[in-house]
Amino acid sequence: MMKETTPIIEIKGIGEKTRKLFAKIGVETAGDLLACCPRDYELYKEPVLVAQAQPGQVCAVCVSVTGILGQKKLKSLDILNVAVSDRSGAMQLTFFNMPFLKKVLKPGIRYLFRGTVQSRGAAKVMEQPKLFSPEDYQKLTGRLQPKYPLTKGLTNQTVSKAVKQALSFYEFEPEYYPASILKRYQLLSRQEAVCGIHFPKDQEELAAARKRLVFDEFFSFLFLLRKNKEYTQTLPNQYPMFETADTVRLLEKMPFPLTGAQKRVWREVREDLNSPGCMNRLIQGDVGSGKTIIALLALLMCAANGFQGALMAPTEVLAMQHYETVQEYMQKYQAAFRPVLLVGSMTAKEKKAAYEKIASGEANLVIGTHALIQEKVQYRSLALVVTDEQHRFGVKQREQLAGKGNSPHILVMSATPIPRTLAIILYGDLAISVIDELPANRLPIKNCVVNTAYRPKAYAFIAKEAAMGHQAYVICPMVEEGELEDTENVIDYTQKLRAALPSDVQVAYLHGKMRPSEKNRIMEEFAKRNIDVLVSTTVIEVGINVPNATVMMVENAERFGLAQLHQLRGRVGRGDCQSYCIFINTRENKETMERLEILNHSNDGFFIASQDLKLRGPGDLFGIRQSGEFAFRMGDIYTDAPILQQASEAVEELMRNDPQLSGEEYLPLKQHLLSESGNGVDFRSI
Ligand code: ADP
Ligand code: MG
Repeated sequence: MMKETTPIIEIKGIGEKTRKLFAKIGVETAGDLLACCPRDYELYKEPVLVAQAQPGQVCAVCVSVTGILGQKKLKSLDILNVAVSDRSGAMQLTFFNMPFLKKVLKPGIRYLFRGTVQSRGAAKVMEQPKLFSPEDYQKLTGRLQPKYPLTKGLTNQTVSKAVKQALSFYEFEPEYYPASILKRYQLLSRQEAVCGIHFPKDQEELAAARKRLVFDEFFSFLFLLRKNKEYTQTLPNQYPMFETADTVRLLEKMPFPLTGAQKRVWREVREDLNSPGCMNRLIQGDVGSGKTIIALLALLMCAANGFQGALMAPTEVLAMQHYETVQEYMQKYQAAFRPVLLVGSMTAKEKKAAYEKIASGEANLVIGTHALIQEKVQYRSLALVVTDEQHRFGVKQREQLAGKGNSPHILVMSATPIPRTLAIILYGDLAISVIDELPANRLPIKNCVVNTAYRPKAYAFIAKEAAMGHQAYVICPMVEEGELEDTENVIDYTQKLRAALPSDVQVAYLHGKMRPSEKNRIMEEFAKRNIDVLVSTTVIEVGINVPNATVMMVENAERFGLAQLHQLRGRVGRGDCQSYCIFINTRENKETMERLEILNHSNDGFFIASQDLKLRGPGDLFGIRQSGEFAFRMGDIYTDAPILQQASEAVEELMRNDPQLSGEEYLPLKQHLLSESGNGVDFRSI
C-alpha cells in the first residue's frame, strides 16, 4: 500500500534515474505524483478510414505499408517518406530523424498511426505520426488521456504509467465530509475525484472530478479564514488610537481634498483604530484611486499616538517610492514621521542601523519589503501593519508581519478587481472598504489599439510629449533577445528608440533581472525627470506612481492579460494632464483585437476583469496568471466562482452547527483539517 508520503522510488517502474527526473518537476512522493494534475487531455478516437481523414484533424488510421518512398538527408535532418493505404485510399507518412523505421515497418502488416492530417497537393500526409499496435491503441480509446507537465527526459507515458501504478496501490484517506455535504453539493469521493482527474472517461467525469478537488481546496482555505476571523474578532484593541491634530493638519495642508470615497474609507479606518476591537480591514480600490494616502493617514495617527507602524510593499521599487512620499509629507506638510527603510538590497551595515532604530522605537514608521518580516527585525511597539498591493502577497505573509507584533491592527490594500460577492468570501476574515471613485482632477485616459505600422507615429507622439516635459513608459514582454519569437525585448528596443527619438530625449531601461539597487536608481532618476522614456518589462506594473508620466505604450499587447494591461495603464493618468495609452497588437486576428478593444472602451477595472472572464470561458483551465494571494493549485476564483460560493456556504453552515467540530460526524473532517495544517495551513484554534 502507498500513502501520501511514500517515496516514488517504491512505485514499480521508477528507478533512480526517473526519480531524479520527477524531482525536477517537484514530485517526490506518491502524494506529489497524484497531485500533479494533467495540464490537458487528449481524446483517442476510434481509427478512421483514410478516405475519411480530414486535413487539419488529428486522427488515427489503421493501414498497411505499401512501400518506402524515399529517404533523404537535409543538413542534420533525416527524412523518411512511407506510403500506406487501407481499403479506402492511400496516404503518405513523413518521419524525421527516425531512419530505423525503415527496417521496422514491414510491408503487408497493419499498423496504427495517429497524427495531424495535412494535404500536400492532392495527397494526404501525416508528419511524425505516433505508431501504436492496434491492441495498445484499443486500450487508449474511449477515455481522455492525460497530458502531464513534463521535463526533458521525462515522457508523458512514464508519468502516466507511474500515476496508474500509484492509483492502484494508494490508500486514500477515509471520506472526511459528512454525508450531508457530499449529497448537497454532489461531490464525488476523493478517490473517485483523483482517479477522475487523471483518467476521466469524458468531459463530464472530468468536470465532476475537478469539482470535488476544487471544492476541497476552497473549503480548507475558507475554513482557515473563518477560524482566523473568529480569533481576530475576539481580539481586544490593545492599541487604541485617538485622532490628533496631526492628521487633520496634514489633510488641510495637502494640495487636494480627499474624494468622497476616500473620506468615507478614512472614517472607517479611524473608527476601527479607536474601537474596542482590533482592526482587520481591506481597502479595495482600482489603480489610481488613491489608497496610499489612507494608509499614510492611518500610519500617522499611529505614530502620533506613540506607536510604531509598518508598511510592507511587494517590490523594493515600490517600497522606495513610499519612503520618498513619506519624506515629501514630512518636508512639505511637517508630518511627524520618523521613518526607516528596510529592503533587501541595503548593506549589512545599513540594515543593522535600521534594526536598531526599529528595536529602540526611534523609528515610528518602518517601510520595506519582505525584509520587514525577517527574524532579525524586532519591533518595539508595533501597533499597525499595512500591506500594499496585497494581491502580490499570500495570506501567510500578511500574518507573518502581524505576528511580529502582539496582535497589531491590520490594514491591507489591493487593486485586484474582484466582484464584491467574491471579495466578501475570499477576504472573509476582513472588513472591506471600497474606494469606488477616482480623484476629480483626472481626465479619462485616451486609448488606442493599433498595429505595428503605427510605431513611427507613436514615436513622434512620445517625442512631442517629451518636448512638453512629460514622460513615457514603453513596455516590452521580454528582457533580451531570443527568449520568445516575434516579441520585443527591452534591451534591443531601447536601442531602437534611442535611434528613433531626438537625441535630447533621454531613454533608459528597467527590467526584473537588474540588481535591486540598480532598479531603484533608475526609478529614482525617472521620478526626478532625468529620464524621459523608460523602456521596461512589467516590473513597473505594481504601484509605481510618477504623475508626470503621460504616455504608456505597450508592445505585443496581445501577450498580456487584460487585468495586467489595465494595471500597466494605471501607471499613467495619475496627474492632471491628459494621458494616453497605446497598445500595439502584433497579432491581427479577430480574437485578440476583440479582447484589446475592451480596454479601448473601458477604464473600469471591475468591468475589464468581468469581460476578460467571459472571453476566457470556463473551458480555459490552464495558463491563467493567478495572483499570489489566491493562487490555488487548481481552483480559479473567477471561473470556479460557483464552487467557491458552495464551499463558502458549506463552511458557514458548519460554523453555525458545530464550530468546534465536536460532533461524531465531523471527526474525520477535524482530523483531515488538522493534518492539512501540517501543510502550511495554520489553525489557531480548532
Ligand atoms: P493607488 O490607489 O493606485 O495606490 P495612489 O495612492 O498611488 O493610487 O494615488 C495615485 C495618485 O493620485 C497619487 O499621485 C496621489 O497623490 C493622487 N491622489 C490621491 N488622492 C487624490 C485626491 N483626492 N485628489 C487628487 N489626487 C489624489
Ligand atoms: Mg498603490
